[in-house]
Amino acid sequence: MATEIRRPDGTVVPCPAAPLLAGAGGLAGRGFRVRTGPVQLLPAGTPSDFRLVTVSDQPVPPGRTAAGGAAVVLAAGAMASAGLLRAGGPVQAVLDDWAWAVRPRRLLLASPRSLCAGVERAIEVVEALLKRHAGGGPVFVRKQIVHNTHVVRDLEERGAVFVQELDEVPDGSLVVFSAHGVSPAVRQEAADRGLEVVDATCPLVTKVHAEARRFAARGDTVVLIGHAGHEEVEGTLGEAPGATVLVETSEDVARLEVPASARVSYLTQTTLALDETAEVITALESRFPGVRGPGSDDICYATTNRQHALKAVADRSDVVLVVGSANSSNSVRLAGLARRGGTPAYLIDDAGDIRPEWIQAADTVGLTAGASAPQSLVDGVVAAFGGLGPVTVTEHTTTTETVTFGLPAAVRAR
Ligand code: SF4
Repeated sequence: MATEIRRPDGTVVPCPAAPLLAGAGGLAGRGFRVRTGPVQLLPAGTPSDFRLVTVSDQPVPPGRTAAGGAAVVLAAGAMASAGLLRAGGPVQAVLDDWAWAVRPRRLLLASPRSLCAGVERAIEVVEALLKRHAGGGPVFVRKQIVHNTHVVRDLEERGAVFVQELDEVPDGSLVVFSAHGVSPAVRQEAADRGLEVVDATCPLVTKVHAEARRFAARGDTVVLIGHAGHEEVEGTLGEAPGATVLVETSEDVARLEVPASARVSYLTQTTLALDETAEVITALESRFPGVRGPGSDDICYATTNRQHALKAVADRSDVVLVVGSANSSNSVRLAGLARRGGTPAYLIDDAGDIRPEWIQAADTVGLTAGASAPQSLVDGVVAAFGGLGPVTVTEHTTTTETVTFGLPAAVRAR
């Protein structure tokens, strides 16, 4: 799949929609192994069995014209001879699907979106250690440093070694704890093993851990509102395992087995949906009238800001795309928020995940990114839409973020 066509005269025709046709909604989704890259055209008359097929050459619905910039080109040598380009064949079907998605569009960008201060700090920690450890031992990272497949792959390519548990890390090695935090048991294991630890836990997660210890120390039953199995939740539960219970929904609150005489307090995972969590807190307040919460909200500023920003654009969009990985809690919540407001919403790792049927009828597409998804991925989505006709990009800003977190002392000191 051509990402650009280089003509013999040296001019270059960009093919920005290549990731769309190559990806899950295109050839890859139909089982093809796809390679993308520039295609060099040979001078006219040079024998070649390659054919160029463009989306903008495909028939489009009545009343619509394939706008400029829609040229995506398929270099099809063996495919043509194997009959894959025949009418009704799988390649032609992909071209047809995407030809129907060609139209002028508005993209509404929610702002703030993309990386938060905690994620930026965690990535910087690993980058700084990789730089300073160049030529030395490996930099191990326990769990994904942040929940984004692109970030993890990029750091892996630069030398970071990601592990699930500490038993995969040789004694005495350097290991980074991810932004989601760890339980005291993990810290103890690292100390027992003589591991050199650099802690990239977000300071806002550390604050929730401290609250869990404080609430448990005063004798409370601590109700943690969060999602079972999420790394942040595992870490927070580990602070006071005997005193903490996990709930996800208001139904869970009704099922809680807590003595009537117990003093109850609650904490929340930092990346929850504000509206869903409010429901659970209301259920807690109704069942335990004296329940106490944290001094200030645990749902972090970045989660809150991204949800408010998306809400402002989702209501005006035909469809919402959220850039983020499936294991990113705050990204999943963003898609859920848009859907609860009545706008279809899809979570995508990058432009290659977009399906033509999601956007064929969409004049206005809302776009945001979770707190662990880099802006470059959003840029890639915007660029890909540029291959499907003229695009007007409007940014809708609900607030401006100025939060930054300093690097851990262990990194600064190196
Ligand atoms: Fe920290 Fe919030 Fe970012 Fe999580 S989403 S890393 S809690 S700033």
